[in-house]
Amino acid sequence: MSTETLPAVDTEKITALAAELRELLGDAAVSDEDAALERVSVDGSTLSPVIMEKLPLGRAQLVVYPPNAEAIAIAIGAAVRHGVPITPRGKGTGNYGQAIPMSGGMVLDMSKARAIVEVGDGFLIAEAGAPMIQIEQAANKTGQQVLMFPSTVQSSIGGFVSGGSGGTGSIKHGMLTSIVGGYVRSIDVVHAESDAHLLHLTGADAHVYLHNYGVAGIIARVEVALEPQQPWSALYASFDDFHDSFNLIRAVAALEPTPRLVSTDGPTLADALPSDEALPAGKASLRVILDDSTIEAATALIEGAGGTVEAVRPGLQATMKLSMMSYNHPIEWLQKAYPGVYFHIEVGGDALVDRIDEVHEIYPGAMLHLEAMAQGGPGGMLAAPYTGEADMLAGFERMRALGVGYHNPHQWFVDYEPERSAALAAITDPLGLLNPGKLLEPDVDTGRKR
Ligand SMILES: Cc1cc2nc3c(=O)[nH]c(=O)nc-3n(C[C@H](O)[C@H](O)[C@H](O)COP(=O)(O)OP(=O)(O)OC[C@H]3O[C@@H](n4cnc5c(N)ncnc54)[C@H](O)[C@@H]3O)c2cc1C
Repeated sequence: MSTETLPAVDTEKITALAAELRELLGDAAVSDEDAALERVSVDGSTLSPVIMEKLPLGRAQLVVYPPNAEAIAIAIGAAVRHGVPITPRGKGTGNYGQAIPMSGGMVLDMSKARAIVEVGDGFLIAEAGAPMIQIEQAANKTGQQVLMFPSTVQSSIGGFVSGGSGGTGSIKHGMLTSIVGGYVRSIDVVHAESDAHLLHLTGADAHVYLHNYGVAGIIARVEVALEPQQPWSALYASFDDFHDSFNLIRAVAALEPTPRLVSTDGPTLADALPSDEALPAGKASLRVILDDSTIEAATALIEGAGGTVEAVRPGLQATMKLSMMSYNHPIEWLQKAYPGVYFHIEVGGDALVDRIDEVHEIYPGAMLHLEAMAQGGPGGMLAAPYTGEADMLAGFERMRALGVGYHNPHQWFVDYEPERSAALAAITDPLGLLNPGKLLEPDVDTGRKR
């Protein structure tokens, strides 16, 4: 993998673009101050020791804060006319460098374009910068809920659909890329054209823009599907032996109505989570966001497997707290507790439960954070002390032999259907200005099916 930072753009072009953007959008919408440029040149890459070794990967020369979807198109048109690269940015929580401006140029910061435009029966329309938690709260006010959201609940809808994969709700609805026309109903997208404008696309036409980091078009507005709201509670259980909680995950996930989240981890990972009396030290933890009508059945399952229900807490605040301890978040907490020690790999499949001791043996000191998933068995994050990229890669064959699916996330290239994104980008971004540096073939085994 090349770690070379691509060359920055000619200063004269940046100065001319900044002047035009100030004319078009006003002074407050444009900045070339060091602190602002620094802030938009980093993302959540510190989660990855592999990428940390390669930083910095690029630096913005200009940042623009469009206040709404129309202004996003105006800023893109101006940048194209000046031949300046454009890197879109939501909240910047993507953890592997995908939002880093590798060719310099302009960062399009969506944080001010965050309006909830409309909430209707079964749908919500929001501007790209709207935080996921704000979207869920707006849906709840109408007796509805979003199908799915990531553990980074403050991240933006534009960033989630462009860079994210799944989260709370995926256990029922699947991952972002597996629900064509189901999660994202429509988008307003902007191509890299000198007369850039909003283009409204629905269903499968919209789907081809998802999870490709904005390389083929920048999403300005998103329409997501909503479903009727359910009465959710957060249930915490503890186990003396993590095998028991891992074994239980499939039975808890099979409760009807389906839980929104079922997470479990062994004592070291659970002890690294924010302290809470419902997370007793030295025990494995099972955490469930479940429909209130299933609390009794879940309790019976847990106690039957030798576990103890530590707490059941109703309401949005309590369930959001569990979401923020799911998916990648336990790895972040682990790294806070033990800075610089651990790396992680995304893993999936029934072998994670059925052959867990062999899975743990692949990397010395390994431990698993597990989530129930809709398809393909449970999935999660395998964390282990980092001894170098080569050692990490060496474990892949052994995982495959055990029947463990894996995805090496420690790289910033579009690796979900990259050929399709490249073909689309050739039409929608002929000058290669959209998020440059992300549309190349990775020379590492990412494990993702092409
Ligand atoms: C601790 C931790 C936990 C996480 N947990 C999850 C999880 O549970 N599930 C999950 O899916 N992800 C997770 N992530 C990854 C990431 O936080 C999410 O995918 C998040 O939703 C990204 O949103 P963002 O607003 O921060 O996007 P950013 O990081 O700003 O952007 C993500 C990518 O999309 C591009 N982009 C941003 N906005 C747009 C736009 N409007 N149009 C086109 N392209 C755009 C960016 O250039 C970048 O390539 C986690 C990350 C961390 C650090």
